[in-house]
Amino acid sequence: MVIEDVSGPGPARAGNVIVRPEAVGICGSDFHLFSGDVAALSGARDFYPRIQGHEVSAIVEDPGEANALKEGDRVAIWPLLPCGSCYPCRAGRPNVCPRFRLVGVHLDGGLQQRLEVPASTVFGVGDLDPDCAAFVEPASVAVHALTRADLKPGEQAVVFGAGPIGLATTLAASQAGARVTTVDPIPARRDLAKRLGAEHATWAPPEDLRTELEDWTNGDGPPLVVETSGETKTLPQAVDLVSPAGRVVVVGMSSGTAPLRPGAFPEKEIDVLGSSCAVAEDFRTAITLVKANRASLATLFSHHFPLTRAGEAFEFAMKRPPDAIKIVVTVN
Ligand SMILES: [Zn+2]
Ligand SMILES: [Zn+2]
Repeated sequence: MVIEDVSGPGPARAGNVIVRPEAVGICGSDFHLFSGDVAALSGARDFYPRIQGHEVSAIVEDPGEANALKEGDRVAIWPLLPCGSCYPCRAGRPNVCPRFRLVGVHLDGGLQQRLEVPASTVFGVGDLDPDCAAFVEPASVAVHALTRADLKPGEQAVVFGAGPIGLATTLAASQAGARVTTVDPIPARRDLAKRLGAEHATWAPPEDLRTELEDWTNGDGPPLVVETSGETKTLPQAVDLVSPAGRVVVVGMSSGTAPLRPGAFPEKEIDVLGSSCAVAEDFRTAITLVKANRASLATLFSHHFPLTRAGEAFEFAMKRPPDAIKIVVTVN
C-alpha cells in the first residue's frame, strides 16, 4: 500500500454524490484483497490497483441531485452496486449479484480524502459519531445473516466467532430477543460478546462444546448456528451440533475446504444457508441498531491510525493481535 496524491473527483456527476470520508473500518475481507487471496472474494475481476475501504463514514461535500442529502450531512456508505438484471438481482437479492461491484473492493473506496459514489449507496446517519457510522456496514452484514436465519424471539442461537461480525451478530440477535451463546478462543472477545448481550460466551474442544450446547438447550442442540469466523472447520462442527430441523448460516469468508458428511443433511433435515453482504433494507435496520447501541459499540474500536499510516494499519490488523477488535483509519 502506498500513499499518493490523486486528482480526485470534480463536482458530482449525474446520480452521484461527493463525500469526504471520516472513518474507515478495516475488515477481514480487506485482508483477502490486500494479500491477493481474491479466491475468497465475490466477483473475481478488476481488483488491482485499488483504493480500499468499504466500511466508510463520511460527510457530504456535494449532494448532487440527491434531494434527501445536504452538504455537511454525516452518512454511511452501503458499498453494493448490483448489475440490476441478473437472476439474483431480479429476485430481489442484489447482494449476491455475480456482477456486483463493491466500493472499496471492485471500485475505489474510502481510504482517500474525497470519494464519488452513486447516491443509492449513501445513507444519512444523523448524529452518529464517525466510528459508529463506519460500523453500520459490518452491522448490516450481521442483520442480513439474521434475516437469512429467520431468527425468532426467544430462540437459542450459537454464534461462532467474536470478531466484529460475530459481535454484531451477537448484538443484533440479542436485541431481537434471542438467547445467544458466542464461541471464540480469545477471552477478551468473549467478554465483549457478553457485554453486547450474549447469555454465554465460551470456548471448548468440539466434543466438549457439543455437550455444553446440548446442556444449554436441554438436550436438543441449538436450533440456529451462525458461523462468522471464516474457519473452514467450523461448518462441519456446526452441522454436527445444530439441532435436527435447525439452521446453519455461513457468513465467514474463506477460500479453504472442509469435509462434510452429506448424510447429516437428510438425517437431520437441516437448512444450511449462505449470507453475503446486505441489502438496502438491512442497511437501514443496521443504522437503527447501531444508533440504539452506540455506547456499548464504542468499546469495539480498539485502534485508530491516520490515513498517512493506512498501510501500517493493515499490516498491524493482519497480525490479528488479540486485543484488536475493530481497527479504524481516520481520514479527513
Ligand atoms: Zn467488511
Ligand atoms: Zn445482478
